[in-house]
Order: sequence, then structure tokens, then C-alpha cells
Amino acid sequence: MPEQTVGILGGGQLGSLLCLGAKKLNIKTVVYCDDKDAPAQIYADQFIFGDYKDNIKIQEFISKVDVVTYEFENIPFKTLDLINQYKQVKPKPEVNKIVQHRLYEKDFVNKCNISTTRYVSIKEKADLNANLKLIPALLKTCRLGYDGKGQYKLNNLSDVENLKIDFSEEYILEKMINLKKEFSIILTRFGHSIHSIYEPIENEHENQILKYSKIPATIDEKIITKAKDWASIIADDLDYIGTICVEYFIDKNDNLYVNEIAPRVHNSGHLTINAYNISQFENHIRAICDLGKVEIKKLYNARMINLIGDQIVPYRTKKFNDNEFFFDYGKKEIKPNRKMGHLTIIQKVS
Ligand code: ADP
Ligand code: MG
Repeated sequence: MPEQTVGILGGGQLGSLLCLGAKKLNIKTVVYCDDKDAPAQIYADQFIFGDYKDNIKIQEFISKVDVVTYEFENIPFKTLDLINQYKQVKPKPEVNKIVQHRLYEKDFVNKCNISTTRYVSIKEKADLNANLKLIPALLKTCRLGYDGKGQYKLNNLSDVENLKIDFSEEYILEKMINLKKEFSIILTRFGHSIHSIYEPIENEHENQILKYSKIPATIDEKIITKAKDWASIIADDLDYIGTICVEYFIDKNDNLYVNEIAPRVHNSGHLTINAYNISQFENHIRAICDLGKVEIKKLYNARMINLIGDQIVPYRTKKFNDNEFFFDYGKKEIKPNRKMGHLTIIQKVS
């Protein structure tokens, strides 16, 4: 196999971990990011700083790589489409077009006969008033939200009346689910009916930001089977190549719902680095570079803790045990609610 170079759009921690996954396979990486301090630049073989709409810089990026992927879904579709005319973008740009818009995403999932919470499109205040029956609900921007950003909890009528938001953006109103549990399924798809599915990862959020992930998840086998089937249907329907994550909700009556799809490697899968023979990151690179599927094997049980904002500080000087793996994302500035690093703790499978 001739030497390959992967282009990665986005230079955050997921980009860094993709670069490390590629290094294990002797694959070169070029990271493109609109942040000149992007942490992934120290892990990449080359770094290009530029706006995602800067066609000259994007052409330079295209000329340096064999295949392109992305570490976050909010890259303009036009940019992905342009790149795809020269070098293949995997997963394909159409996937992103659906998933980067919460309404198209939920419509797509329902079209696959898969359950989501009830939702409606909200374009103006009158739409909210016409859908008060969904309350308690969450109002979310259709685009550019992450880690709970762009979300408003509406518990009662006065929340709706007091709401001050900009209706030049599109929103989705989602019925609030009475949550029993959240978990995710991470799957790497190599081609038709060729995929690896990691075991379900149980997730705990604080202030709508992922805080803890663990395997094994304590979830009923029937629900696990259904969730794996749904993730496979979604990946097949999208003709997806690479690693995808499907986030799930289980309500207090044990109903299963898809929350959202991440068309990329995912924070909850950080523990696959230490708990599996092949991580979600390495598997993504294998899939997009056509290296073929290798069976994945769980080596350990694991728990991952996200270090958010200044929670990172004591960890930077802490001594760790042999079963603890600390990763500092190397972000220049500590900000509240910013993911700064994580710790994974592995344990023998008993
Ligand atoms: P993000 O893109 O920010 O991850 P999500 O839609 O996944 O947005 O929401 C973040 C978190 O907020 C979820 O993991 C869940 O804990 C909570 N949440 C979101 N939507 C709902 C809902 N409809 N019912 C209950 N909790 C929700
Ligand atoms: Mg989410």
C-alpha cells in the first residue's frame, strides 16, 4: 500500500486523537483549522490555518492529501462538496448536510422507522405558542449547537413568554424525555454490511455536557440489541464510511430513542483508546483509507472522566497509577464549560 496522507478538517482534541490513530498506522496527517492555536497541530505532520470558506487555502490543503475527513460536523457543506470534487471526503458530504441540521437529522431518523422524541420545527414565536403541548421541552438551534450550547429549557408558559431569542435562526422544539439513562453506540463502517460495533457506552451529562462514560453499560440486553440494529440501519442508510456515534436516551418506561447522530469520532469513545485493541480513532482512519476491517476486541472495562474548565488544573501535576491514562488537550486558555482533557481508568474484565 503506497504511503497515504489523510486531511482532517478541524483541529480540536478529536483531531489530535485522529492524528495519533493515524500515526499508529504510519499514515501522515494534515490538519486544517480556523483557529491558529488549534491543539491538533502538534500531533499533525502539517498544519494549515485558514477559514473554512477560504478557497485558496482549501486548494492548498487539497493538494497535500489523498483523502479528507472531519472532526466536527459544522464545516460548511459547500466546503466539503468542493473538496470532494478533487479528493474523496469520507464520510461523504451529504451525510454532513443531514446531520448538521437537527431538524433534517430527526426527519431522517424517523424516515428509517427509528424513534426519536417528539419534535416540531420552530421558525417564529407563533410556532412556539401553537405547540405548547410539547412542554416541558427543549428549544434548540438547528445549526451549530454543541455541549448544550444554543439550547433553552422550557418548563412552563412563563419560560416561553420570557424567552428572548433571535428568530432569524431556525429552531427545533423537542419534548423533554424523562431520562433513565443515556448511552451511545459507536460503530465503524467499512462498506456494505462490513462494520465493527463497540459495546454500548453509558454516559452521564452535567449541564448538558458529557461528564462520565463507562463500559460495561448496565442496560437490558434487548435494548442493546435494538440500539445496535438501529445504529447499523442508520450507518447503512447514509452509506457511511468511517466511525459514527449514535446517542440514545432510555426513558423511565424503558423506551428507547435516538437523541442525535455524530458523523465522526465521539467524546464517549475516548475510552476505546485504552480499553480496546483498536480505538474508534484508529478504526476511522482504517475505514477511510480502505485498510479493511480487523476484528475489534475489548481488553478492559473502563471509565472516562471529562475534565471541564479548571477541573484540569490539579490533574496537571497529579501522579497516576498504571491503570490511569490522562490526556491534556493542550488548549491555550481554560474557559468555563470547555473540555480541557480527560482521564481514562481501566479495570480487568472479571
Ligand atoms: P449537543 O449537540 O449539545 O450534545 P444534545 O441534543 O445531545 O446536544 O443535548 C445535550 C444533552 O442534553 C443530552 O445528552 C441530554 O442529557 C440533554 N437533552 C437533550 N435533549 C433532551 C430531551 N429531549 N430530553 C431530555 N434531555 C435532553
Ligand atoms: Mg449530544
